[in-house]
Amino acid sequence: MNTTKVIVIGTGPSGIAAGTKLLEYGFQDVILLEAEDRIGGRIHTIPFADNVVDLGAQWCHGEKDNVVYEMASKHNLVAHTEDNFYLFQCIRSNKEIVPIKLLERFKSIIDNIVEVTANTDLLTYKGSVGDYIDEKYFEALKAPENSDIDPAIAKELLEHFKRYENSVDGCETVNDLSAKGFLEYSECEGDQALTWKETGYHSILRVMMQSNESNALGVLDKRIKLGKSVNKISWNEDGSKIQVQCKDGEIFEADHVIVTVSLGVLKDKHSTLFHPKLPVEKIRAIETMGIGTVNKIFLEFSTQFWPNNWNGFSTLWREEDLAEIRGTNRAWLEDVYGFYRVAHQPRILSGWVVGANARHMETLTDDEIYEGSMYILKRFLEMDIPKPVNFKTTGWYKNENFRGSYSYQSVRAEEVNAKPSDLASPLESSTKKPLVLFAGEATSDHHFSTVHGAIETGWREAKRLADLYKS
Ligand SMILES: Cc1cc2nc3c(=O)[nH]c(=O)nc-3n(C[C@H](O)[C@H](O)[C@H](O)COP(=O)(O)OP(=O)(O)OC[C@H]3O[C@@H](n4cnc5c(N)ncnc54)[C@H](O)[C@@H]3O)c2cc1C
Repeated sequence: MNTTKVIVIGTGPSGIAAGTKLLEYGFQDVILLEAEDRIGGRIHTIPFADNVVDLGAQWCHGEKDNVVYEMASKHNLVAHTEDNFYLFQCIRSNKEIVPIKLLERFKSIIDNIVEVTANTDLLTYKGSVGDYIDEKYFEALKAPENSDIDPAIAKELLEHFKRYENSVDGCETVNDLSAKGFLEYSECEGDQALTWKETGYHSILRVMMQSNESNALGVLDKRIKLGKSVNKISWNEDGSKIQVQCKDGEIFEADHVIVTVSLGVLKDKHSTLFHPKLPVEKIRAIETMGIGTVNKIFLEFSTQFWPNNWNGFSTLWREEDLAEIRGTNRAWLEDVYGFYRVAHQPRILSGWVVGANARHMETLTDDEIYEGSMYILKRFLEMDIPKPVNFKTTGWYKNENFRGSYSYQSVRAEEVNAKPSDLASPLESSTKKPLVLFAGEATSDHHFSTVHGAIETGWREAKRLADLYKS
């Protein structure tokens, strides 16, 4: 039996944040158990083409009150880029490029809906964000000044925007995104798409761990155990030691356990992971809160075949072209919403796919995904498309250590009043001592779905334990 004071389960940003903060508070007897054979969780930076690519988290969203920005900017690690939805070309499936003037008008209609009217109307709106956008968008199109907009293109732009919004919010579809829950997310002011200066998102873990050339795990060296998939956490209200059992049979004991696994993993495993079973409010939150799937497709070419001022393109499917692929093995391509350039990677295009079709893509072979990606490039672009020299896709749902990409506030969760705070509340002893604590992006009240939210929750739980021992 390995006995320790605190076990952190998971080494994603929240686990690393909890572990490093516990050490700062003076806890020494801390270990982190990680199911994968690497640290980082949904931060996964790999070498690819001329630099690195991020298979998971990519951008730092905002500056003010953003803990990632605060740490990264001190080390001069982040930079502004042109990664902005409206700077990409929107191209129809007959290769027609939507004129920039029309795109600007669309942008002002949509901005008015999601940024201006939403802040007042959504508070009392009964329904999903998708319903709200539909209602307001078609109302706006009826205005005399918009009567010249081609209704087919208007619909294609809306459908594209909804897919883009799926990927921003990590939801299944915007029709499953709670209108009230949408307002719970609080955006950190500033650039929403700061990128890493050549080093990828993994840099933030290195900053937290104080890694250096000779010691990649920094202060967490010798405290992290990789390949340790936890399958049973047994705790008791009498406050006795908590037993943590791994798939390989090894058992650890601790006074406190901080669980940082994703909402997807909790959905999948909570009924067998916790003994005794979790309280009903927590189960309700786990079962009703949402986690969607967002996947990426990286295509590396031997040279850049697009002009320098071209940032990538967003796909607008015409109804007649969709009818051609629906019902065929290409149907999943409907949810590949665009291919874009990647910062510091002159020869790469990165495709994005969302929702049920992102999960469907995970069931396909590499050849099928490659063929589908080439079909999109050839279908939408006028340019000659050379053969890629390398190719990489993600599979965030099929991996049992993630089961999805990031969490969102679903319509169902709103109906039963389930909130991130239900997920965050610790399991306590009869004397109110926190025994099993919960961190992770989905437990963040206002920064869920993000790395900065995940880090804040790791710090929150480390502080909970520090406060306990202080008192
Ligand atoms: C494709 C994609 C793009 C994204 N883009 C951005 C972005 O641009 N900006 C942004 O801020 N956020 C982004 N995110 C979200 C961000 O990555 C997550 O919010 C954040 O990483 C969550 O951190 P976490 O510590 O809560 O969970 P995780 O990172 O999931 O860490 C949990 C850890 O627990 C481990 N684990 C699971 N089960 C077990 C078990 N049984 N035993 C032991 N260990 C276990 C997992 O392997 C994992 O390492 C993106 C995510 C994805 C997938």
